[in-house]
Amino acid sequence: MIDVAKEYRVALPAWIDEELADVPAVVPGREERMRLVHRLADRNWRAGDGGPFAALVAERDTGRIVSVGVNVVLASGVSSAHAEVLALGLAQRATGSWDLGGEGLPAHELVVNWRPCVQCYGATLWSGVRGLVIAGAGPELEELTTFDEGPLRTDWAEQFEERGIEVVGDVLREEALTVFRAYREAVDAGDIVVYNARGGSK
Ligand SMILES: [Zn+2]
Repeated sequence: MIDVAKEYRVALPAWIDEELADVPAVVPGREERMRLVHRLADRNWRAGDGGPFAALVAERDTGRIVSVGVNVVLASGVSSAHAEVLALGLAQRATGSWDLGGEGLPAHELVVNWRPCVQCYGATLWSGVRGLVIAGAGPELEELTTFDEGPLRTDWAEQFEERGIEVVGDVLREEALTVFRAYREAVDAGDIVVYNARGGSK
């Protein structure tokens, strides 16, 4: 019998508990939810767990926090371990449903510090969330962080809306760019691994 891996694990870093210690169970304001996402994103790259990206899933109407996620590509050694994938998966485990839009569940929204990459675009489509809240959607992310976000369709937002996922943009946009700029400075100083596939070469 061939010897193959049968399991892989992605988990939030240990420092998450410290960051969540002062966060109430319910965060009613969208800006406040985004502020938490920015804080986690900034801590994440500084801790060396992955890129400057974080996400959370909240009950849309009450603001109850269901899950949080950060990018742990470096910590886990798994290239798909993006913040959105963790937040959605952990929310699904927390609710006991692979469909966050399932019957009997409140409407959920995903809050992310920029427009999702091609992978997370799909992950969001299949998750059952009813809303996507982002800090921004322009080319600034790729320009500042040098990450390749993939060939996202130009009508990505319309595709979400068509499937009942409301897109809310430009929530604390400048704060997102501040995190990306700090990350870029560290990259330029040679302190950081940017984990694009094949080192970004074609
Ligand atoms: Zn992604």
